[in-house]
Amino acid sequence: MMNYVIGIDLGGTNIRAAAVTPGGEIFHRIKISSEVEKGKERVVKNLLDMIEEIDRRAKGEGRRLISVGLGIPGTIFYDRGVIAQSPNFPDWIDFDLKSRLAKDISLPFFIDNDANAAAIGEGWQGAGRDEKSFCCLTLGTGIGGGLVFNGDIWHGEDGMGGEIGHLIVDPDGPACGCGGRGCLETYASATGIIRMAKESYYSGDAVGLRERSNNNIDAVSSEMIYNLAKEGDYYARDILRAMSRHLGIGLADLVNLLNIGLIIIGGGVAAAWDLFITDTTKEMRERSYKVPGERVRIVRASCGDDAGILGAACIALKHSNFKERGGSI
Ligand SMILES: [Zn+2]
Repeated sequence: MMNYVIGIDLGGTNIRAAAVTPGGEIFHRIKISSEVEKGKERVVKNLLDMIEEIDRRAKGEGRRLISVGLGIPGTIFYDRGVIAQSPNFPDWIDFDLKSRLAKDISLPFFIDNDANAAAIGEGWQGAGRDEKSFCCLTLGTGIGGGLVFNGDIWHGEDGMGGEIGHLIVDPDGPACGCGGRGCLETYASATGIIRMAKESYYSGDAVGLRERSNNNIDAVSSEMIYNLAKEGDYYARDILRAMSRHLGIGLADLVNLLNIGLIIIGGGVAAAWDLFITDTTKEMRERSYKVPGERVRIVRASCGDDAGILGAACIALKHSNFKERGGSI
């Protein structure tokens, strides 16, 4: 019988899950709505249903499920599988998800922060495959960060290590969801880009943006800004210049602090790669020590939306002491 694990990427909008072989092959993908608004038990039921459905299909192929890994946004006591708090699941305070799931399905469950899972996924099957140490940034609605040192995630004392999105890149900058001000997330996430676009919109100068959104501020999206910038729109380019600059400042902090050899950047905002990476790299090099600044490679994540599933699966395999895995983590 062939063994496999299930990797789950639990987000505030969707849950994505799949079966993953010890070699990193993904099959039987399922994506459903999280249904957060229907309460904790509904989300748990959705998770359990997905696991059962994937296992039903895999069992029919003669495969045996050995464990389940989950990546979840928020502060996770990963060693106990407890969600301390999560921005996407407001009623999950000190929620012992691991015990709750194990009550219905008798399997080992392993839980970590979603950004850590994405970093592990990239390290296992993606852009960090041959690297023992690297940083991974996921530029999405917010910014997720994962630090991998010598093949292991740096969790920090409270499981909050690697919050790269909350590096302060402008002491007097905009308020951030974390309670701070001027965090990298307020400039280099999709939310940050939309925030700057709205400022530009209200200034009355951004004619192109007004036209593109049919004078509807709520229709402004980060993709709209990338497209306008590609077409040469001055104000859209200005927004991406600000984004690039602050991302470069954040990366310079990482480089100076860690002398890391590889920084991986993924998430939806990475779709605008060609529009920001040159300026970001220039800014990073100007602000970091010469040798580490020239050494570091900044690359695009290569697992796409699968990074979280692969990382969660890798965590499950690792904790199950399963030896047949490939990859560095
Ligand atoms: Zn912050």
